[in-house]
Amino acid sequence: MVDKMTKITSLAKRRGFIFPGSEIYGGLANTYDYGPLGVELLRNIKNLWWKHFVNKRSDIYGLDSGIIMSPKVWQASGHTDSFTDVLIDCKKCKSRIRADHLIENHFEKKGKEIKVEGFSVEKIKEIIDKEKIACSSCKAFDWTKPRQFNLLFETHIGIVDESRSKAYLRGEIAQGMFINFKNVLDSQSPELPFGLAQSGAAFRNEITLGNFIFRTLQFNLSELEYFFNPKKQKWQNLFDYWKKEMWKWTTEILGVNKKNLRWREHTDDERSHYSEKTEDLDYNFPFGGFKELYGLAYRTDFDLKNHMEKSGVDLRYTDEKTKEKFIPHVVEPTFGMDRSFLVCLLDSYFEEKGKKENRVVLKLKPYLAPYKAAVFPLLANKEELVKKAKEVYGMLRPELSTDWDDRGNIGKRYYAQDEIGTPFCITIDYDSLKQNDVTVRDRDTTKQIRVKIEELVKFLKEKIEI
Ligand SMILES: [Zn+2]
Repeated sequence: MVDKMTKITSLAKRRGFIFPGSEIYGGLANTYDYGPLGVELLRNIKNLWWKHFVNKRSDIYGLDSGIIMSPKVWQASGHTDSFTDVLIDCKKCKSRIRADHLIENHFEKKGKEIKVEGFSVEKIKEIIDKEKIACSSCKAFDWTKPRQFNLLFETHIGIVDESRSKAYLRGEIAQGMFINFKNVLDSQSPELPFGLAQSGAAFRNEITLGNFIFRTLQFNLSELEYFFNPKKQKWQNLFDYWKKEMWKWTTEILGVNKKNLRWREHTDDERSHYSEKTEDLDYNFPFGGFKELYGLAYRTDFDLKNHMEKSGVDLRYTDEKTKEKFIPHVVEPTFGMDRSFLVCLLDSYFEEKGKKENRVVLKLKPYLAPYKAAVFPLLANKEELVKKAKEVYGMLRPELSTDWDDRGNIGKRYYAQDEIGTPFCITIDYDSLKQNDVTVRDRDTTKQIRVKIEELVKFLKEKIEI
């Protein structure tokens, strides 16, 4: 049996959700491009996130900071020192891999789940030697010493060689919010607790295991930094509050099945250098089981404190009533947007037995679907049906993302739309000409009802919850 991941990857390419990056040049590993349907789904998720966490709330302010920032940002944040992976090279076949993955996979095959992230180079070497873990490509046991490699993508600013200065593509989007903290205080005068939100691309120069868009060199994040006064609020309470909000977003808004989710706390070794406590919201992926979908971290005052020290600029908040000045602490919910996309595909994918053939259906929440509706003339060679159908299509198109299809028979068209998650298929038949109505077929129940054309937009918008 072909596994679910292979099916999703193939569906994603065939129907225009995700294409392998730079494909006509043989591809570039761990890069992907979003196709015409993929970009709709991704934007729907991102826009919904923004609406839910920024626009609907009075305590969150949005930002859109640059991908390239002063290299001093990354020194202050600790990324130039601590943002590393331990890599190891096979001397025989020359493959370079992440030592933590090598060890984790070794134990996974033995049925044990262990987390190696954060282990020292010495400890990693000790485990590999003790367990005699061989290279998965060539089966040799002939490794170089494990070494730390920095994950920041380097680039250079300037066109003349001598004056070119080193810079980095951002390794996380959070820093753009910390370095604008003072600008937000000065321009918006927010009262604590309040949050900053940002959505955009981050980059990690890492060796990955593939797994489609689960881990890529460039990835989309949406993130909140929620600042508070630690003397007035317990971080544990805010941490629990955001845990609930993240759960609600995932299960109610994205519609992910609770059975496929779990919270997992990071071990002391694994936790990032800036964090006091981190929990991951894991999804049960078809490859290797539960893995990180989202993260929630209590970053204390680590970042603002460091930026204040290194920049010499006062980043303290002043309490208007007591006039007390202090550095706020921060709780950070992080949402991987590409992983949200992947989970939406995986979790909504169903194969159902049909009378003649099985149908594949993406039971996406209607508001997430790339197309909300598709319009068909019953027969493509009957001018009067096509004309009426074009009128309906023209009416819907400015209101809702709508597809047009007049190829093959109606059954085939339904199945083609089910496979991309279109919640409603609208057919114009001979009765439509007399009664000025259409049939609306529901993706999940496959039931059809007749709806008057003048009521169609309102009917669909209510069903889709727009
Ligand atoms: Zn090898």
